[in-house]
Amino acid sequence: MPTLLGIPLDVNSSFLRGPASAPGRIREAWQSDASNKWSELGIDVGAPGVLSDAGDLHLSNSREGIDADFAEIEQAVAELLKKDERPVSLGGDHSVTYPILKAFAQRSADLTLVHFDAHPDLYDEFEGSRVSHACPFARIMEERLAARLVQIGIRTLNRHQREQAEKFAVEIVQMSSLPAYDRLKIHGPVYISFDMDVLDPAFAPGISHHEPGGMTVREAIAHLHSMEGTIVGADIVEYNPARDIGGMTATVAAKILKELLGKMILGGNGRVK
Ligand code: MN
Ligand code: MN
Repeated sequence: MPTLLGIPLDVNSSFLRGPASAPGRIREAWQSDASNKWSELGIDVGAPGVLSDAGDLHLSNSREGIDADFAEIEQAVAELLKKDERPVSLGGDHSVTYPILKAFAQRSADLTLVHFDAHPDLYDEFEGSRVSHACPFARIMEERLAARLVQIGIRTLNRHQREQAEKFAVEIVQMSSLPAYDRLKIHGPVYISFDMDVLDPAFAPGISHHEPGGMTVREAIAHLHSMEGTIVGADIVEYNPARDIGGMTATVAAKILKELLGKMILGGNGRVK
């Protein structure tokens, strides 16, 4: 079953810290009585036995401790996978996807990674770091942790990242070519990495890197709902409470979580698993 896992880490952020406090804030919005837990797909993701929660990791969130923190993330995800759970992690900057995928790669060789983001995060290194939140998908593709990488919502490609995308045969769906539902009809296991900044900052200002011209919440949900394949895990990253306005972005993250969970539970073929 889908299992929540909070990852309070933001030491690999390049511009602003903040996403380390995301897990608690998203959980608060998730648990708020302001809304029910029925996904638009007709699934009650709040029903007993539908979802579990592994709590938050305890991490140093320091430069000196980053190797140990990554090892801790990988191990926690590996343990959930061993129990046939489907990890859905909350929070952290985007660097967390690299250790998460290390654990997935041990279990599945044909994983397709679907990455929602304004940014391709394909830098070979960024400001002297190879584990920056600007680099995880370069590491993932170098180590062949996913068979395919499909990026959607991208709107910040520069020359270096275009070259990187070509080198790793990344399938990029730029924001300007949306909607692109057909590009998400994937066979086999799928992992979804959802960077909150794929959304237009008008809808989700609580992020570190405002990049206007992004998805509406509706566009993001429509693309999530159109996906095929079996979603085996997901992360929601880059929510930065320090930049939020009245918790509105936490509410959006909780809504994305609800629709993602509904889709996971319903299954790619429309069968309840
Ligand atoms: Mn990102
Ligand atoms: Mn981003």
